[in-house]
Amino acid sequence: MGKVVIFSAPSGSGKTTIVRALLERYDRFEFSISATSRAPRGAEQHGREYYFLTQEEFRARVAADAFVEWEEVYAGCCYGTLRSEVERIWNNGHVILFDVDVMGGIHLKRIFGDDACSIFIMPPSVEELRRRLEGRGTDAPEVIEKRVAKAAFEIEQAPAFDHTVVNDDLAEAVERTCEVLNEFLAR
Ligand code: ADP
Ligand code: 5GP
Repeated sequence: MGKVVIFSAPSGSGKTTIVRALLERYDRFEFSISATSRAPRGAEQHGREYYFLTQEEFRARVAADAFVEWEEVYAGCCYGTLRSEVERIWNNGHVILFDVDVMGGIHLKRIFGDDACSIFIMPPSVEELRRRLEGRGTDAPEVIEKRVAKAAFEIEQAPAFDHTVVNDDLAEAVERTCEVLNEFLAR
């Protein structure tokens, strides 16, 4: 079994932005491409950001026990980590970088234990979270409301993670994350 790094955060905290910065800095990391039943957003491509499945395809894989973990993150939208994805990345000799929702992050930490470093990306405030989601311009107002409504509960789960990094100034948040990861990788 190899190492894994888990990132979770309320949607809009800047998790994807931080993960992209890390993938540019570290050759050892490979992004775990999740499967999802939601539709592609913007320029997203099948097999790059996600494996986009229909509800029926997603359900069939659940029934076949193809997932390490999966969650219905938003009503009607399921996301999950395929066992085949974990094997693929470890076979490449890479450290897996997971970007999953908060409950998925807690679940994966339980599965991988000391081989995992779990990091919670904390927004400076819920108001700022809403501003970022609005500024990103990729989600309809009702989708933004669903995401913001979940944030308070998600923030309460932060103590379940190995580390919390506040993403106020982006460059500082990336530096702090690198410190945490360097210590984990050296272990
Ligand atoms: P998540 O993956 O957590 O949903 P994103 O990485 O998509 O969040 O970031 C949400 C929006 O906030 C994006 O438009 C991104 O450019 C912006 N953003 C990310 N980090 C910061 C930051 N530190 N300060 C201001 N805006 C940020
Ligand atoms: P988005 O629709 O913004 O891409 O993602 C919504 C949420 O689903 C994010 O919090 C993201 O981290 C989470 N997510 C993506 N893939 C997975 C997964 O495989 N498992 C779980 N539990 N959550 C996921």
